[in-house]
Amino acid sequence: MSPLSGRPGRAGVAAHLTRAERAGEVLRQLRAEYPEATCALAHQSPLELLVATILSAQCTDARVNLVTPALFARCPTAADYAAISAPELERLIQSTGFFRNKAKSLIGLGRALVERHGGEVPDSMEELVALPGVGRKTANVVLGNAFGKNEGIVVDTHVARLARRLGLTREEDPVRIERDLVPLFPRPAWALLAHLLIFHGRRVCRAPRPRCADCRLAAICPSAES
Ligand code: SF4
Repeated sequence: MSPLSGRPGRAGVAAHLTRAERAGEVLRQLRAEYPEATCALAHQSPLELLVATILSAQCTDARVNLVTPALFARCPTAADYAAISAPELERLIQSTGFFRNKAKSLIGLGRALVERHGGEVPDSMEELVALPGVGRKTANVVLGNAFGKNEGIVVDTHVARLARRLGLTREEDPVRIERDLVPLFPRPAWALLAHLLIFHGRRVCRAPRPRCADCRLAAICPSAES
């Protein structure tokens, strides 16, 4: 039964919930709100998702999805990233921003995958974060969405902001936020949780001005503005 069942009114409800109860409600409510929530980066393989996630740094997923069809056609394998010239790759990914650094990362990534992993994307956190340009967030995206392995929770700017506003953490550092979130949610839901928070962060709980009046979490959110 929902911890909100039988409680009168909305005012003050947030204060009565434990963090675990609030977390359960967040997952339940957002699941109902966004049944379509999924990874927004178009991909058909772990390599494509890894590349798309690297390109998504400081860039929208929609912009990345405009760039990747031509990129994936030109570079279907890790060996293609290892062999492509920097100027050609930079031209292909230019509109995603920071394209020189990203091209360097992708070429280094292609070489490392060929040299260390026979051209395949590894499916462990330890091996993924050892690759050039791959941090814990990117590794969590790939593990959760391409391999179906919930090793951790993706903490991007939306997840971090919503976790704080919803009173699920007081931390600023993504690794510490992840550490706070992990015990609050069932492991099979970790990848979905990030998608749900990202969907809600883009549509309702926006960075500069949250739309609390339109938010179905307002009754349980300690930051709700009336
Ligand atoms: S009530 Fe406001 S601050 Fe809380 S989650 Fe909703 S939009 Fe964000």
